[in-house]
Amino acid sequence: MGENILVDSHVWVEDPEIAWTHGVVLNIKGDEAEVKTNDGKELVAKLSKLYPKDDEAPSEGVEDMTRLSYLHEPAVLDNLATRYGLNEIYTYTGNILIAVNPFQGLPHLYDAEVMEKYKEASFKELGPHVFAIGGIAYRWEMINEDRNKCILVSGESGSGKTETTKMLMRYLAYFGGHTAGEGRTVENQVLESNPVLEAFGNAKTVKNNNSSGKEYQILQDAERFKLGDPKSFRYLNQSSCYELDGVNDAEEYLATRRAMDVVGISETEQDAIFRIVAAILHLGNIEFCKGEDADSSSLKDEQSMFHLQMTSELLMCDPNSLEDALCKRMMVTPEEVIKRSLDPLGAAVSRDGLAKTIYSRLFDWLVNKINISIGQDSHSRRLIGVLDIYGFESFKTNSFEQFCINYTNEKLQQHFNQHVFKMEQGEYEKEEIDWSYVEFVDNKDVVDLIEKKPGGIIALLDEACMLPKSTPETFSEKLYQTFKNHKRFIKPKLTRSDFTLVHYAGEVQYQSDQFLDKNKDYVVAEHQDLLNASKCSFVSGLFPPLPKASSKSKFSSIGARFKLQLQQLMETLNLTEPHYIRCVKPNNLLQPTVFDNANVLHQLRSGGVLEAIRVKCAGYPTNRTFIEFLKRFIILAPEILKGEYEADDACKWILDKKGLTGFQIGKSKVFLRAGQMAELDAHRTKV
Ligand code: ATP
Ligand code: MG
Repeated sequence: MGENILVDSHVWVEDPEIAWTHGVVLNIKGDEAEVKTNDGKELVAKLSKLYPKDDEAPSEGVEDMTRLSYLHEPAVLDNLATRYGLNEIYTYTGNILIAVNPFQGLPHLYDAEVMEKYKEASFKELGPHVFAIGGIAYRWEMINEDRNKCILVSGESGSGKTETTKMLMRYLAYFGGHTAGEGRTVENQVLESNPVLEAFGNAKTVKNNNSSGKEYQILQDAERFKLGDPKSFRYLNQSSCYELDGVNDAEEYLATRRAMDVVGISETEQDAIFRIVAAILHLGNIEFCKGEDADSSSLKDEQSMFHLQMTSELLMCDPNSLEDALCKRMMVTPEEVIKRSLDPLGAAVSRDGLAKTIYSRLFDWLVNKINISIGQDSHSRRLIGVLDIYGFESFKTNSFEQFCINYTNEKLQQHFNQHVFKMEQGEYEKEEIDWSYVEFVDNKDVVDLIEKKPGGIIALLDEACMLPKSTPETFSEKLYQTFKNHKRFIKPKLTRSDFTLVHYAGEVQYQSDQFLDKNKDYVVAEHQDLLNASKCSFVSGLFPPLPKASSKSKFSSIGARFKLQLQQLMETLNLTEPHYIRCVKPNNLLQPTVFDNANVLHQLRSGGVLEAIRVKCAGYPTNRTFIEFLKRFIILAPEILKGEYEADDACKWILDKKGLTGFQIGKSKVFLRAGQMAELDAHRTKV
């Protein structure tokens, strides 16, 4: 950038407060330009940091970013902001749908009339919309195409993934192909199963009201489960929001129950499920103090005893065994078995571990149940998968969870890049232009750094977990040694256990302190035994006895299992035709009409939208039909009007005349390399 910028050019210039602002170049000295911004400021900036602004851009923005004359960060951002201001929350980038959360009801966007309209139209015939994506799935039912579809919905917490998914489902349900008499269509079941997973899968966070696990609704059965005031439960009050305005818990509780009916969870199972959740809440309130022996612990007070009693009643297990399972540990050495006491801190860790274990087994059970229920009813072998994924994460401190989430995102990004690249190729082929030297930009190097076997981070972590003397420092040292020349790996200064990875979405510094512990995948034997012995068959069913061989602490790692699951997911995805929806949260205040540039930019970066644009820029980011091109640039070669040129020759004449190379003339369009449109425009200003 920069080389096509002249005095009087309209440009984008960086602004620390609002990310980008625009103005006019007053004069240029060496590699610097003086810019007068539209709000009256005068700034000096490096020429290389200025981006040309298209002064012919339509005031209402463009529906597809790839139509932008100059495809770069400020133009993309400006286009989204402009459209958002007009309540146009959907925008395409090629085939990717970007959905900016309106934080207000826009019912006219989703009414029956709109649904009907999208039903009739082919993709991209109408404006960008979530229904256009839904329509792809719908028409595929109609035209009997064989390929499975999947819709990948991503974005950070509160960006609107769940709402978007609901709209999609509603659209599918509206036209729901096979309406069985009793109304149990697959779509309905998916819709109905939503509250079940939503009630259990989400946790109420400050970032998003509706992230609420609505933990729970269950308080309606409070009487039975001795739950009392929700504020009194530690696992609930950590997020310090108990109730949501306008959400009627009793109603939601019933909705959850109804949804459970629909997906075929029996009364008895439902009862057990709610009992387990109540048990987890009570479990969280058990506290420990120093016990009689050194380094031992016992229940802190009457209250804790009450909660222990409740937990064991609800889980139908023996209270003494529960206490033992929390406060003691067996140490199995080759010679003997030693029973060791845990100090109060250790007991608390054990308690939280137990809660997590029960919860995750319950959640897996629900997912499994819902999948079976949907699968059974489905008449078709074909599949529309809708995936609602965690976005890229980078916090002040980043642990193993962030590592796994970011690894997932790298994998999805790789898939996405390949897809975007393929779509590009498709277009080039259609126009019969040569694309052989378009370079494929990839993030394969980071993915390899993480998952290569042997020698990748996960493999090294597993190795470290198996060596008895490993510490976070020895593990990190090994990473520093192995990757000291890797351009995606950085050893941060002043630390002996942190490491930084250069992800596609930016650098993330990880604290390896808990990587070893968190990677070890085992249910504490005491917990396993306790729950397996439960008199409630549902609970004991969640903890089936381990096969004898594997009870001998064979090492199994979360990282390796995670990697395997991702591989399976990728295999499934590779068999489908993917469609991407990127949700964007325009501000952290959760308010309508506020568009926070810096915030959005960050999400576009982490969501791979800018990466997709980078892929596009590696090829021919701008194309125009011959007529469009001539309309804009005929002024550069008026002599054409006198001659007898074919449209394609006329375009080529102009490009050659201005000394441009590397462009391509297709069958109906001109394909320009990055920056060439700006270069031509610069000539135009000089005419
Ligand atoms: P999490 O990752 O925390 O689950 P999410 O991405 O699923 O978050 P949602 O719960 O879908 O986020 O959206 C948060 C809130 O934003 C919704 O409760 C709703 O108020 C609002 N919202 C999102 N999308 C829309 C939309 N299309 N129209 C109106 N409001 C919306
Ligand atoms: Mg959600």
